[in-house]
Amino acid sequence: MFSYRHAFHAGNHADVLKHTVLIAVLRHLTQKDAPMAVFDTHAGAGLYRLDGDYAKTSGEAGQGFMRLANPDAGATATAPTKANKAPDPAPAELAPVLQDYLDLVRGFNAKGSLKIYPGSPFIIQQLLRERDKLKLFELHPTDAKTLSANVAQLEAGRQVAVLREDGFEALKKFLPPPQRRALVLCDPSYEMKMDYQRVSATMADALARFATGTYAVWYPIIPRPEAHDLPRKLKTLANKAGKPWLNAALTVKSSKILTSTTGEETRPGLPASGMFVINPPHTLKAALQAALPQLVALLGQDRHAQFAMESGG
Ligand code: SAM
Repeated sequence: MFSYRHAFHAGNHADVLKHTVLIAVLRHLTQKDAPMAVFDTHAGAGLYRLDGDYAKTSGEAGQGFMRLANPDAGATATAPTKANKAPDPAPAELAPVLQDYLDLVRGFNAKGSLKIYPGSPFIIQQLLRERDKLKLFELHPTDAKTLSANVAQLEAGRQVAVLREDGFEALKKFLPPPQRRALVLCDPSYEMKMDYQRVSATMADALARFATGTYAVWYPIIPRPEAHDLPRKLKTLANKAGKPWLNAALTVKSSKILTSTTGEETRPGLPASGMFVINPPHTLKAALQAALPQLVALLGQDRHAQFAMESGG
C-alpha cells in the first residue's frame, strides 16, 4: 500500500482532464452567493515541482499540461512515426475553460516560467470565496505532511482543513454539510483493486446522505474489469437516484502492449481516463464540448487519441 506518489504524475493528461472539469464545475458553483463546502477525498501533496526529480523521472507533465502551455513543443515531441500520426494542428485559440486552467496554473508561477503545478487542493482553494470551506483528506504520511505544510503557507485559517484520514470513510461524517451546497472530488490512486468498489460504495452512501451534492469521480480507463465497470456502476447509481450525470473521457494513445522483435514488452502507461460527474452544472457539457476536441489535438499521441462524452438523467 502507498507506493503511489502523485508527484510522478502531476500535470499528466489525467490531471489535465480532471482539473479542467474541476475548474469548470467550480466556476459555475461559485457564481451563486450562498457558501459551499468542498471535499477532496484524495488530496495528494497539494503542490508539485515540474522541474523536480519525480516529474523529471516520469516526464508525464511534458506529455500533458506542458503541451497545453507550449503547443509547439508538443507537436515536435510527436513527430509522425509509424505509431504516431501527425498531430492535428494546435488550436489557434483555446476553449475558455482550457484558457482558464492554463491561466490558473500560470498564476502559481513567476512570469515566463512553469515550475510549479498546483494539485486539486490548490486549484480548489484558488477558486473559493472566503465564506466557502475546503476539507482535504490524505492518508500517505509524507504527502499528508507536505500538504499540511503547503496549506499552512496559504494562511487560509479555518477555511481549509487537512485531515490525515481515509477519505472514503471520513466523508460520511460531513454529509450533509451545514451549507447544504457541496462539491466532492473523489480521486483515488486505484492502487488497490478495492478502490473501485470503495468509490461506488462511497458515492452510493453520499447520495443517500446528501442527494443534491455535486460528485466528481476520476477513474482510469485501463484493460481491467473493475475499471471498465466503474463508470457503468456510477451511471446506474445516478439513474437510480434520479440524478443527472455527465461522463467525459479522454484517450491519448493506444492501450496496446508493444512487443519488440526480442520479445521485450513495453507497457504504454496510462492511455486514457474519465471524469464522472453526478449533478453536474448545466454549463459543464457546453464547456467540455469546446475543450475536449482541443485536448485530443494537443495531447493525442497516436491515432487512437479521442474523446467521448455522454450524459443522462
Ligand atoms: N487529487 C489530487 C490532485 O488532483 O492533485 C491527486 C490525488 S492522487 C491521484 C491520490 C492520493 O490519494 C494519493 O496522494 C494517495 O496517497 C492518497 N490516498 C490513497 N488512499 C487514500 C485514502 N483511502 N484516503 C485518503 N487518501 C488516500
